[in-house]
Order: sequence, then C-alpha cells, then structure tokens
Amino acid sequence: MKSQFLIWLSALALLVLIAVQYIFITETYRTKKDQFDTKFGGLVKDGMIAFNNQDFKFGLDSVLYVLDNLAVDYLFSDPDTLDRSPAQSFQEILMNYRDPEIFLRDHIRKAGEDPVFTYYLQINELFLLDMGFEQQVYPDTIPLPVAPDEALLAGSYNHERNFFRISYDIYINFTNRSRLILNEMWLILALAILTLLLVFTVFYITLRNMLLQKRLSDMKTDFINNMTHELKTPLSTISVASSSLGNRSIIQQEEKVEELSKLIKRQNRHLSELIDRILDINIWEKDQVKLKPEHIHIEGWIRELVDAFSLEQGNASPVLDLQVEIQVETLLLDRVHMSTVINNLLSNAVKYGRSPCRITVNVNDKTGFLSISVTDNGPGIKKEELKHIFEKFYRGQESKQRVIKGLGLGLFYVKQIVEAHEGTITVHSNPGKGAQFNIKIPIENGLIIG
Ligand code: ADP
Repeated sequence: MKSQFLIWLSALALLVLIAVQYIFITETYRTKKDQFDTKFGGLVKDGMIAFNNQDFKFGLDSVLYVLDNLAVDYLFSDPDTLDRSPAQSFQEILMNYRDPEIFLRDHIRKAGEDPVFTYYLQINELFLLDMGFEQQVYPDTIPLPVAPDEALLAGSYNHERNFFRISYDIYINFTNRSRLILNEMWLILALAILTLLLVFTVFYITLRNMLLQKRLSDMKTDFINNMTHELKTPLSTISVASSSLGNRSIIQQEEKVEELSKLIKRQNRHLSELIDRILDINIWEKDQVKLKPEHIHIEGWIRELVDAFSLEQGNASPVLDLQVEIQVETLLLDRVHMSTVINNLLSNAVKYGRSPCRITVNVNDKTGFLSISVTDNGPGIKKEELKHIFEKFYRGQESKQRVIKGLGLGLFYVKQIVEAHEGTITVHSNPGKGAQFNIKIPIENGLIIG
C-alpha cells in the first residue's frame, strides 16, 4: 500500500516535471519569437521606409500607369472578355514589381542577417473610379490569398490614379524563423531533454527495484506460510501418534504400536528432509554447492530411479515411458543430487499433472551432451510464469489456487545442481498440452572425483 502510494507520487512528480519543462520551453520559445519579431519587424519596416524615401520612383510610377489602363479595361470592356477579377490582375502586376522585395533583401543582408523570407502583397480595398463615381471591386466574393498569420507587416500603401484607388499591405514571412529560434535554444532544449532522461531513468530503476523487492518479499512470505503448513502436518501426525501410544488399549496391540512407530519414523524423516532443504538453501545463498562426483552407469541409474519412483507412487502410479538411447556408459555425476533432480521433475509431473498422468523420460547422448527430458501431459505452464519457475520460492498461480503442496524450491534446486554439473536446464510448455523439462550435461564435464 505504502509502496503503491510512493509509485503514484513519483509518477505524479514526473508528470509535473514534464509539464514544467513543457511550459518552460514553450515560454522560452515564445519570448525568443517575440524578440525575433521585434528585431526583424523593425528591420523590415526600416527597410521599407528607406525604400519609400528613394528619389528614384519611376518604377512605381510606371506600374501605377499600367494599373490605370487596366482599370479602364475593367470599366469599359465587356466583363465576359476578362477572365479574372480586377483584384487578381492588380495583385499580379503589383507582385511583378519586384523592386521593394529586392531592396528589402539587400537591406536585411546589409544588416548582417541572412534569414529566408517570402514576400506577400495583400490588397485590402480596390475601387474603380469613373468621373466621380466609384465602384468597390475588392473585397468581393472571391478572396485573394493572404499572408500567413505569423508574417510581419512591412508597410501599408494607398495609391490613387484617374481610374482606380487601391490600399494594400506588404508582409514578409521568415520561413526559417522556427529553425533559427530553435538553433538559439539548443542548449536549453538539450538540458531539458537530459534532465527528463535522467529523471526517467532514476524513476525506472527505482520502480523496478521496488517491484523486485516486493516480489521477493511476497515470495518469502509465501515460503514461510508454505513451510509452516508443511511442518505442521508431520508435527501434528507425530503428536496424534504419540498420544495414541499413551493409550493403554493401543499399547497392548503390538501391531498397532509397530505401525505407529513406523508412522512416527516416517514423519520424522520427512521433517528432517524439510529442515535439510532449508539448510541447503542457506548454503546456496553463499554459493557453495559441493558435489561428490562419481562414475555412474547412466542407463542402470536412470532405470533404477524411474522404477523406484513408480513403486513409491503405489496405486496412483503414472504411466511412465522410459526411452534410453545412449552410447556412453558412465558419466561423472553426483549421484545423490542428480537423483533428487530427476525425482523432483518426476514428482512435479505427477503433482501438477492430470489423471491419467503420463510421463515420458527420454535419455540420449547424441550431441556430446547427456540429455534427459521429462515430459508430462499436465496443464502446462503459462508463458508469463515460464521465466520465473526456476527462481527461489517461486510458485505458480495455479499451484497456489489448487492448494498443491510445495515450497517453490524444487526447480530452484534442480537448476543449481544442473549448473553445478556445468549443464543447462530449459523448459518448453504449451498451456493445456503439458510441460517438458530438458537437462543437458556435457559428457566431458570438468568434475573431479574428490
Ligand atoms: P513447488 O512445486 O514447490 O511449487 P517448484 O520449484 O518445483 O516448486 O515449481 C515451481 C512452480 O513451477 C510450481 O509452483 C508450478 O507452478 C510450476 N511447475 C513445475 N513443474 C510443473 C509441471 N510439470 N507442470 C506444470 N507446472 C509446473
């Protein structure tokens, strides 16, 4: 609960940080943009004033003369012969008059700047005049293309001649403005991204560690619960058996006494096995699996093991199919540990299997390895559980739900022992179709008889 609260709090802090960084960056961008607009807006306006103050205005005069003739055409010609609106034609002619644009480019370059810009001429109003009458022809139903919102106003103009009156604005749009601004902001951007990345990484690592810790602590709690349960069963059997032994009528029945004493012995052995396992775990934690390797006749050993296992199961014995195809006769193995490994796999196949339980044990040495596989016809293992089953204390969801006894140590033990023999263990499973455990131990393993 506490850790969940912490996770949410950290996630919230992260979100706030992202929001703050976002606001900071957009604000900086806006300020830089304002600075850019003020600087270049001033430069452009000054440029246009300088252009207007030029003595030499013949260029504009001749354009206005052409426009006046055009106005006459629109006033007195048959409208059907003119394929475009007066505003369209006026705009085109004014745009073709490139002197202001060329002047501006020069002016900006002289100021030591080199931004790329597009030149716009936007007509506001256009009137055709005829002997005191005026006819507004723009704005009309066909709007002309306008400058984009971010374009800067360079100057506003009004011209009047005999047959027309026009007012228009000249705009300049710096197309590489965003890039220029972002170039100036690279350090801020890089630092912001770096901060976010660092915080993300720290958050991720902390979260992962927290979840790992939680999982470990959950597994330990599970283990203690299971252990308590496992210990209680033999203890209570011993307690019942010993109080029965105190019963006079039972003492007199020799057979019963013998049976009870066997029961106590069995439970006692079970108890000491459980305690041994816990002790073993402590040893493994210090990385000290000590093997006692000996030359083992593989076929004889595995047959004996499988037969004994089958016998132990009594009436509930599974259908066991043993296939042995080996060339090598003996191999250096720790008999006790390796026997427990095979037994663990077999009892898991029975424990988690379904009835009738079928187990296939295949032993071969085809690839320079002794391969032992144990395949069952049980419910199999879910994909998300596969990667955890060899972890210490791990128990599958179903084993907990079906209350199947266990400590979550069996496969952990198997893996430790196989690896101590320089081997590997893998598992393949399709849920619903059983599980297959494969052990591979190099025939030329480096174990030494000690
Ligand atoms: P335990 O049997 O005490 O739970 P193990 O380490 O032997 O511990 O097994 C870990 C988990 O792997 C089991 O809880 C079970 O979910 C799963 N498992 C092991 N063997 C099989 C199998 N043959 N079929 C299905 N699930 C298995």
